Amino acid sequence: MSVTTTPGASGAPRDPDAAAPRGAAEAKGPVGPDGRLLLAPDASTEQARVLVREWVEANVPVAWREAAAAGGRAAIREVRSRADYERWYPVFGVSGLVAARWAPEYGGLGLSGAAAKAADEELRPYNLGRLNPLGLANAAAALFAHGTEEQKRRFLPPIVRNEEVWCQLFSEPGAGSDLASIATRAVREGDDWIVTGQKVWTTWGFLADYGVLLARTDPDVPKRNGLTYFLIDMRQPGVEVRSLRHVTGEVDFCEVFLDEAVVPDSQRLGAVGDGWRVGGATLSGERQMVSGSGSGGVDRIGGSGALHLVRLARQVSAANRPGGWDEPGVRQEIARLYSEERIRAWTNDRIRAAVAAGLAPGPESSIGKVHQGDLNQRTQALAADLLGAYGVAWESDLAPGAEAAGPDGTPLDPAEIYAESLPHEVKGMLRSRANTIEGGTTEVNKNILAERVLGLPREPDPYRGKPWKDVPRS
Ligand SMILES: Cc1cc2nc3c(=O)[nH]c(=O)nc-3n(C[C@H](O)[C@H](O)[C@H](O)COP(=O)(O)OP(=O)(O)OC[C@H]3O[C@@H](n4cnc5c(N)ncnc54)[C@H](O)[C@@H]3O)c2cc1C
Repeated sequence: MSVTTTPGASGAPRDPDAAAPRGAAEAKGPVGPDGRLLLAPDASTEQARVLVREWVEANVPVAWREAAAAGGRAAIREVRSRADYERWYPVFGVSGLVAARWAPEYGGLGLSGAAAKAADEELRPYNLGRLNPLGLANAAAALFAHGTEEQKRRFLPPIVRNEEVWCQLFSEPGAGSDLASIATRAVREGDDWIVTGQKVWTTWGFLADYGVLLARTDPDVPKRNGLTYFLIDMRQPGVEVRSLRHVTGEVDFCEVFLDEAVVPDSQRLGAVGDGWRVGGATLSGERQMVSGSGSGGVDRIGGSGALHLVRLARQVSAANRPGGWDEPGVRQEIARLYSEERIRAWTNDRIRAAVAAGLAPGPESSIGKVHQGDLNQRTQALAADLLGAYGVAWESDLAPGAEAAGPDGTPLDPAEIYAESLPHEVKGMLRSRANTIEGGTTEVNKNILAERVLGLPREPDPYRGKPWKDVPRS
């Protein structure tokens, strides 16, 4: 996941015992002593709009607001670095606006769907991306569906405030699409579970304080029945995280080696052997995040939307370059992508409404996942096309060989300099390639739709019902 183009996570140390959450003291405007917006759960959409506007004026830095008014998200990127955003984020974290629909005891405001949507619309111009999306979408979905009250109160508020960053330890070298084949073992020892195995593709594993983990607790039963779901502390000696660098030069995902890592039984989510069902809540939350219907505030992973294409195309024509807004074919393609974006937004609204009404999103979230993966790839490919030659041979102050340092003054390594030099659109185009893989591939989501929505016959499985230990694995 691109560190600068998408909501990200910070390596902030967890601080569950802190007397007051970080950000409470700095928060201004219509907020209580804990920094939470003074908006009652039964607030109307109009009340939500008014108070959020006041909150924005009191808390969002003037330079960001001016940039938003003058040039939208692109202008905000010019005046706001990722480090700036992370420094400011605690104020947002305590406001309750990060997950406005969640109950106050879990870090939200308990707003109705309509009021939360109105609040989000007021915030949208300032591009206040939610940090910790794997906590907000993937871990929280399972906590809400299967956590005890104690687990929810312990883990959800620090997720909202980005004080504890989360990752997801599901995929393994031999268990991706066929996730139920997981081989990582968890063995009970007194009040603890001892976990040994290897995970891969772990997004933000190197930043994470906690991970949601699926592990095999019973190899003698069929593969789906022998899994259990845990919340694992990543900062312990039995957890080794090795970073992997991807095509844009950045590090986002990792391999994680678990060597007798310890998880207390109090951090088991759901019953022993029920991990497949609990994991389903996380996967559904992940699909909603990736398709944009989740509570994590993620519109897309990689790049910007169709309105950015309009701006880019106009710039191309204004510079008298071919292939811009003056060409009917380009306008038609942008209009098509814009229409699809609207359809996606309405589909996502439907899923959100179902969730708000207490229904499980279920396989319908696969519709948004399949559509959004393909739509974003086409959107980002057009953005890169509109750059023309600038998308191929870019120029930058941070071109390879230049001196560059990170926010703390440490020199950046060449791969990071390369990553910083990539135009937003090129980064988005490269990042979007993963949209049809992450959160379950398009092919696998089509299988889900075929079987569970359309009622078509299941894929044949000659090993169905056999104990996991007797099934051949790669
Ligand atoms: C950017 C990114 C971030 C990720 N982050 C995480 C993370 O944080 N945590 C985590 O646990 N995982 C993560 N993943 C892993 C992701 O969930 C897996 O990559 C995905 O489920 C596919 O598994 P695989 O890579 O093993 O591919 P495979 O399962 O080996 O699939 C290979 C190909 O075969 C196709 N295929 C497989 N089975 C079928 C079938 N039954 N029918 C039709 N086609 C099939 C697939 O569609 C694919 O094209 C991430 C992946 C990406 C790309």
